Amino acid sequence: MSVTREYGAVTREILDELLSALGKNRVLSDHDGMEPYSWDETGKNFAVLPEVVVKPGNTEDVRAVMRIAQKHRIPVTASAARSGVAGGAIPLRRGIVLTTEKMNRILEVDPVNRTATVEPGVITNDLCKVAAEKGYLYAGSPMSTFTSTVGGNVATNAGGAKGIRYGSTRAHVLGLEVVLPGGDVLSLGGKIRKGTWGYDLKDLVVGSEGTLGIVTKIVVNLEPMPGRTADLLVPFRTIGEAVAATSKILALGVSLLSCEYLDQPSVLLTSRYVKYVYPFQDEAEAFLLIQVEGKDEETLERDCDKVGNLCYDEGAIEVFVADNRSDSADIWSVRQNYAEALRVKDPYFVSGDVLLPLSRVPDMVRSIEETAKKYELECVVCGHIGEGNMHPDIFKPDQMELREWESYSEAFFADLIRHAVDMGGIGSGEHGVGFVKKPFLTETKGEVEIGLMRRIKQAFDPDWILNPGKIVDS
Ligand SMILES: Cc1cc2nc3c(=O)[nH]c(=O)nc-3n(C[C@H](O)[C@H](O)[C@H](O)COP(=O)(O)OP(=O)(O)OC[C@H]3O[C@@H](n4cnc5c(N)ncnc54)[C@H](O)[C@@H]3O)c2cc1C
Repeated sequence: MSVTREYGAVTREILDELLSALGKNRVLSDHDGMEPYSWDETGKNFAVLPEVVVKPGNTEDVRAVMRIAQKHRIPVTASAARSGVAGGAIPLRRGIVLTTEKMNRILEVDPVNRTATVEPGVITNDLCKVAAEKGYLYAGSPMSTFTSTVGGNVATNAGGAKGIRYGSTRAHVLGLEVVLPGGDVLSLGGKIRKGTWGYDLKDLVVGSEGTLGIVTKIVVNLEPMPGRTADLLVPFRTIGEAVAATSKILALGVSLLSCEYLDQPSVLLTSRYVKYVYPFQDEAEAFLLIQVEGKDEETLERDCDKVGNLCYDEGAIEVFVADNRSDSADIWSVRQNYAEALRVKDPYFVSGDVLLPLSRVPDMVRSIEETAKKYELECVVCGHIGEGNMHPDIFKPDQMELREWESYSEAFFADLIRHAVDMGGIGSGEHGVGFVKKPFLTETKGEVEIGLMRRIKQAFDPDWILNPGKIVDS
């Protein structure tokens, strides 16, 4: 059973408390200033205007905000780059939006421990660049690397194209500083790589979407740079062939950094947007984009041949190998700009994110096709197929009103998530639950598990002021 909580409103007195704690440049309460913080990439139609936006510059500022919020029972929604697509950063119950945009310093790169320490508002690609300058790879970057922040990635446990090799963000987080409601500070983990030292609260906070605490500092693992790489672009005449080839490629024992999937409609749409044409894009129903790593030129060539030959055996029309930076950048530009291209076509498109055991991906692809037909929706699909993570994305029919579209698209994804769960999968591989998938989480998890989640939430946030309305209700 869920209880609707009463929250306090942000009065003139509370505004004054925030102003005296942070200073006038760090508090916004005018409509136009706050409007950008009312929505994220889930869509402007879900916008909710906060009552106040605060821009803390350090941990002490965050503590001050949390003390004030706790005292007056004001909801606090953490907000970073707002590239999220599950509505996580939307302040559903209004109150305070706490943006981390002023906490954007890379504090340290430590070559001895192979770590970097950053504030949460650092743009992910800035961390990647600094790490690369020192000869390391930050392997946790999602496709939104140029816009999203490390804090947002931690809060959503973001995944990326290299997840097949390195895992999602959780695998790269070694330490976290977290401010709790009331202002207590937790220091979890550190520059250490293992441990059995009580319950692992760090791993619990990763992926908690701002519902358990505000992340104020992050220690990440840095990987050695991979060896030489080459990118293979492989068009297949049928979707079935591309999907079937994937599990065989993964079983080859070749060192792979990425194995991505794009169907023909998504390629046609994105190639127009980036003005780069994939070979055979008018004939091929699906494409695989595979990054192979080799410790030297000889190994790389041998392993590319292995993957290429297997693809031919599985029905590939052709295998294109990009072994220089410019060709690689071109073929990746289509995958990287996919979401932008969709947004340009339809600002109200809705993005899906089902995760399956690899063996059930072919069934899921069929289910996506059939469900799109049943709902008579235009649907494009891409995905981190090597991890079983597929993104079916749907467009609003022209004549449909926005209100109807919200419930219609929800019904479409409810069907897909149920199919995914029936096949041993889940309803989000990386985008998170936010509020858009909360009903399906509750439906598919069962009472015992949801009950435990609620009690964990209650232990961290007794007054349920942190990002209310997300993941679980009180
Ligand atoms: C073009 C595009 C491509 C994308 N590609 C990928 C992809 O490949 N993989 C992927 O996983 N996602 C992807 N996404 C989704 C999105 O980029 C990720 O979810 C990303 O991690 C969100 O980061 P952000 O900084 O924008 O966070 P926001 O959207 O601002 O916030 C996301 C959540 O984190 C919480 N939060 C933010 N900062 C903190 C903090 N300091 N402490 C506690 N909670 C906090 C917020 O409350 C919210 O619940 C993509 C989105 C777009 C638009």
